[in-house]
Amino acid sequence: MFHKILIANRGEIALRVLRAAKELGIQTVAVHSTADADAMHVRLADESVCIGPPPSRDSYLNIHQILAACEITGADAVHPGYGFLSENAKFSEILAAHNLTFIGPSADHIRIMGDKITAKKTVKALGIPVVPGSDGAVTDDVEAKRIAADIGYPVLIKASAGGGGRGMKVARTEADLAEALSTARTEAGAAFGDDAVYIEKYLEKPRHIEVQVMGDGAGNAIHLGERDCSLQRRHQKVWEEANSPALNVEQRNRIGEIVSKAIADLGYSGAGTIEFLYENGEFYFIEMNTRLQVEHPVTEAITGIDLVHEQIRVASGGGLSCTQDEVRFEGHAIECRINAEDPRTFTPSPGTITHFHTPGGLGIRVDSGVYSGYRIPPYYDSLIGKLIVHGRNRVECMMRLRRALDEFVVDGIKTTLPLFQDLVGNPDIANGDYDIHWLENYLAKTS
Ligand code: ADP
Repeated sequence: MFHKILIANRGEIALRVLRAAKELGIQTVAVHSTADADAMHVRLADESVCIGPPPSRDSYLNIHQILAACEITGADAVHPGYGFLSENAKFSEILAAHNLTFIGPSADHIRIMGDKITAKKTVKALGIPVVPGSDGAVTDDVEAKRIAADIGYPVLIKASAGGGGRGMKVARTEADLAEALSTARTEAGAAFGDDAVYIEKYLEKPRHIEVQVMGDGAGNAIHLGERDCSLQRRHQKVWEEANSPALNVEQRNRIGEIVSKAIADLGYSGAGTIEFLYENGEFYFIEMNTRLQVEHPVTEAITGIDLVHEQIRVASGGGLSCTQDEVRFEGHAIECRINAEDPRTFTPSPGTITHFHTPGGLGIRVDSGVYSGYRIPPYYDSLIGKLIVHGRNRVECMMRLRRALDEFVVDGIKTTLPLFQDLVGNPDIANGDYDIHWLENYLAKTS
C-alpha cells in the first residue's frame, strides 16, 4: 500500500480523495495555487505545497511543479481527481518515469479513449454497441454522402479530438451535409488542432445513461450499475441519478455484463465510465471517461462501495475488494450539482460565502470544499458542492431531497439551489420522464 498520496486537484474532489486516503491510513499532500491557500483541502491535508499562481496552467496543470511537490514531500502516488491532469497520458508516463504511481488506468488506455474514433473502434470490437456511422474519419464528401444516406438523416458530424460537447454539427438533410462537414472540420482544427471528423446517426430524444466500471488490470472487472445523467445544460450535467428511471433490472444487468466483459478483455485498470445515449430500448456508446466522475457518489450510495478506496487498492496492486456477485444495488440516489451561479442565467457568482449550512439526517451526503467565510476565487469552475440523497426507492429519495434542499443555506453569493427546488416539484421529474433536451426546453419555457 502507498505511504503518501499527493492529490493533484482542488475543491470538493481534493477533499473526497483526502477522506479516502485518511481512512486507509495513508498520508496526504495537498497542492494549491496562491488563490487556494485557505482552501479546505489544504487545511485538512497532512502537508501542503503551493505550486504556483492562480491560472490553472501555471498551477494545477503544471506538471513540473507537481513533480517537485512529490519530491519535496516524498509522496509515492498521485491521485488526479477529475478534470485537470486526470486524462493526461503524458502526465501518467512522466510520473512512472519518476517511480511514482498514477492512480488511474494505463497511459495506453487513456490515449485510446481520448481519441473518439479510436475509442469507438476499440469498444465496438469488444462488443459494446455504438451509434451507427462512419468507421473512421471521413475526408471525402462523396463518401460522406453515401454513409449519411446509408444510416439515414439527420446525422451528426463530430470531431475526433472533441470534448465538452464542442465541435459537433447536425445535418438534417443531404443539402446541409457539405456545409456541416466543412464547418465541423474548420472548428475542430481551430479548437483541437486536429480536423478529423466522423459521422454518426443523430439521435433525436435520447437519455444519457452511463455505466460505472472498475478493472483490476489483470483481466477482471466489475460493473457498479448505471447513472442517468440526462438532465444537462450545454452538455454539463446538472442532476444525476442511480438507478436510471428508464431501465429495469434485466436491462441493467444486460448492459452491465456487456460492459464489464469488454473492460475485463481490455485489461483495464481502475475506475472508468462508459457513456451511452439510450433511445427506444437501445444503448449507443458515445465515449469512455478514464477517471473518477463528478457524479460517482450516487453509485457509492446505492452500492455502499467507496470508489476512491477501490482506485487506490487497484493502483497499489491490491486488486478489487469484491466480485460482481457481491455487488448489491440498494435503493435510489440523486445528486444535485450546486454551482456558484445565477440560477436563471447561469453566470458565475464568485465572492464570499457569508453563511454555509448543509442539510443532514438519514440518507444525506454533502461533498463540498467550502465553508462560512470562504471566498470563491474567480479562476476555477463554479461547483461549490454536491448534495447526494439516498432513499429505499425513488419516491422516498425525492421526498428526502425536497426537505434537504429546504435546509440548505448558502448566503452571500447566488447558487443553483433554487433550480433544484423547482425541479424536485416538477411532475416530469417526479415521473422520471425526461431526455437530454428536457432541461434546456424547460429553462427556455420558464425564462
Ligand atoms: P464530448 O466529449 O464533447 O462531451 P460526446 O460524444 O460525449 O462529446 O457528446 C456530447 C453530447 O452530445 C452528448 O451528451 C449528447 O448530448 C450529444 N450527442 C453526442 N452524440 C450524439 C448523437 N449521435 N446523437 C445525438 N446527440 C449526440
